[in-house]
Amino acid sequence: PVPVVAIDGPSASGKGTVAARVAESLGYHYLDSGSLYRLVALATIRGGVTDDAAIAAVAETLPAEFVGGKILLSGADVTDAIRSEECAAMASKVAAIPAVRDALLERQRAYRQAPGLVAEGRDMGSVIFPDASSKFFLTASVEARAQRRYKQLMEKGLPANIDSLSQELSERDARDAARSVAPLKKLPDAVLVETSDMTVDEAVRFVAERIA
Ligand code: C5P
Repeated sequence: PVPVVAIDGPSASGKGTVAARVAESLGYHYLDSGSLYRLVALATIRGGVTDDAAIAAVAETLPAEFVGGKILLSGADVTDAIRSEECAAMASKVAAIPAVRDALLERQRAYRQAPGLVAEGRDMGSVIFPDASSKFFLTASVEARAQRRYKQLMEKGLPANIDSLSQELSERDARDAARSVAPLKKLPDAVLVETSDMTVDEAVRFVAERIA
């Protein structure tokens, strides 16, 4: 089978950056599964859709494309729009609907192509690629994660407040961990990577050295 490196963990744990860097160094494909939930969230917000069945229908027919580092929704560039905290909060709500997760399942598995895949999210190792050759769980303290998100927003010139970020991250993680389908948790067979005191380079090296 085509090898899969599954990297799961809470928001702003560094898993996106680390996964992208590891994929690049191995020459593997890369799946940012959170972007799919964020796209469903944005389409839902824009379309004024509120009931679960209609949100699942949005997920099933999601008109999303990934081209040259850009993310398009119905042909419009939403690369930055899906990164807002509003979208993140909505993503975590739509992600708790079982039919939404089902609708996105095959779309995610289709990324598994030679020579290999690095996939990051919340359920890569548990639901989408349970047979992944390597599984990691990246995490960091709420303080470290809020600090990172704050820096990212400041660098983009976007408004940011450390206390509300920390509050939003905690609420989203609590919802992601408490839901009945694919709750966020470390699997017994995943390697724990505590990144609070690691630089990005250190986290990338730590993961790269432990890939089976
Ligand atoms: O990783 P990111 O912060 O972009 O994910 C946004 C939200 O999408 C998460 O808070 C989570 O609720 C949901 N998600 C998920 N399963 C995944 C990836 C993301 O439920 N595999």
